[in-house]
This record gives sequence, structure tokens and C-alpha cells, in this order.
Amino acid sequence: MIRLLLLAGTSEATHAARQLTEDGADVISSLAGITTSPVQRVGRVRSGGFGGVDGLSRYLTDHCIDALIDATHPFATVMPFNAAIAAKEVGVPHCRLLRAPWTASTGDLWVHVSNAQAAAMQLAALGAERVFLAVGRQTASHFSDCRNLSFLVRAIEPIDQALPGAHVLLQRGPFQLEQERQLLIDHKIDTIVAKNSGGVATGAKLIAARELGVRVVMIARPPQPNSEVAASVDDAVRWFRSLGTPSSPAS
Ligand code: NAP
Repeated sequence: MIRLLLLAGTSEATHAARQLTEDGADVISSLAGITTSPVQRVGRVRSGGFGGVDGLSRYLTDHCIDALIDATHPFATVMPFNAAIAAKEVGVPHCRLLRAPWTASTGDLWVHVSNAQAAAMQLAALGAERVFLAVGRQTASHFSDCRNLSFLVRAIEPIDQALPGAHVLLQRGPFQLEQERQLLIDHKIDTIVAKNSGGVATGAKLIAARELGVRVVMIARPPQPNSEVAASVDDAVRWFRSLGTPSSPAS
């Protein structure tokens, strides 16, 4: 049985844990430990950082890990690099489960920015007034210096830093189109700030924005390591199958 460490933090990681377990893997899902009520998942679960590259390398060795799938979020900036380096260091096959980014379609009013700070600066320049911050709890704090804006913030957990005039919605996706359309209408949103996470779970807000002529400030993804990429859970399962079974120690 292949023992697989799955770095979690996305809905794909939850689905992958189930599919890979059904496929015969001994899956250990790893959570960063920052969400107080993580979703239930199939297989074993561990929680908390490893202690950088060295800690992860040690974990891979000490726990006899045969393969590593990094299914952390596309906006995770540290873990994907740590995973790539540690896996190479200890010789464990590794792939990055990374969904494709969203791309603009006809009718979209997207303004592309490179990071959250740039998004915060754009809001005044664009004349935004009522802003839906769909960027998650950690990134919302980058907007605390914005003045004279009414913010609607959606996050899974309460946000760390109060934003002036913020209305906070504590919700976990997936979100449906009708729900997103109504949200934009009810809160008279003129601008959405979104991270280009990709995927269907949080993509409906972009369709609603297109329909209603709401502008989207789209934050580009951070750099990724040069790893083998699986673009979907099915691709990750195919990658896993391609590994075969671990060789038994010579007797
Ligand atoms: P990050 O910057 O890449 O990671 C920061 C540190 O958190 C890492 O160095 C590692 O600590 C620990 N860590 C991250 N993911 C881990 C995992 N799956 N298992 C064990 N330790 C982990 O990531 P982040 O942006 O802070 O995000 C933290 C978690 O939230 C990730 O799992 C990510 O998938 C999820 N998430 C992030 C976003 C986002 O927008 N950034 C959105 C949704 C979900 P050590 O160095 O000590 O090992």
C-alpha cells in the first residue's frame, strides 16, 4: 500500500483524500491548523506546520511516506516551495494539485492586479464605493487603510482586523449563482475584489458580476514552483496510479 502525504487546504484535497483512499492509498491529510472547524475527510489527518523544509523532509522520512501531493491553495506562497524542495531532498515522488485559473470572458469588467496591496490601491482610483471583498480572512486585512468605502467581507472564520464599515458574512463555499446574484444586488455592490483561485466552488460570483455589470479587481496568483502539476483530482489520481506499488525491501 502506498503511503501518501496530502497537503490539504482546498476542496480538491478533501475529494482527493476520498478518491485516493478508494484507490488503495494510505492517505495522511495535512492541515495547516488555522481553521477551527475543518471539514471531515476520509483517512488519517494531522494538523500544524512541519517546521519549514527541514521539518517536512524529516516527516517524509520518519513516516515512511512514498508519495506527496501538494493540494494547498493556489495562493499559498510558502508550502508549495517547501514541498517541492523537501520531496526532491528525500527522493519522494511529488506533484502539485493546482486547478486552472479563471479567465475573463466577453462582458467581464476585470481589472488585473498583481497582489492585494495593488488591489487596495486600485479601489480609490476606480471610484469604488461598495466593495465585496471575496479574498478570505488573511487577505482582508490588507484593505484596512482604505477609507470611505463600504466593505462586504466573506470569510470562513471571523476576520482578524476590523475594516471600516465592513459587513462580515461568515460562510463556507460552494456558492450558487442565484445566491451570488442576490448578494450583489442586496448589498448594491459595484466592485468585487477576488483572488484568481479558479474552480467552480467560488466561481459563481464572477458570472453574477458579468450579468450585473459589476467590476472585478482580480488578484493574480503568486509564483509557483516548477513542479509536476495535476490540474484536477482525476489527474492526481492518474499520477498516483502511475507510481505503481512501492518496492519491497530486499530480503
Ligand atoms: P503558506 O503561506 O504556503 O504556508 C504558511 C505555513 O503554514 C507553511 O510554511 C507551513 O508551516 C504551514 N502550512 C501551510 N499549509 C499546510 C498544510 N497543508 N499542512 C501543514 N502545514 C501547512 O499558506 P497560507 O497561505 O498561510 O495558507 C495556509 C493554509 O490555508 C494552506 O493549507 C492553504 O492551502 C489554505 N488556504 C490558503 C488560502 C490563501 O488564500 N492563502 C486560501 C484558502 C485556503 P511550516 O513551514 O511550519 O511547515
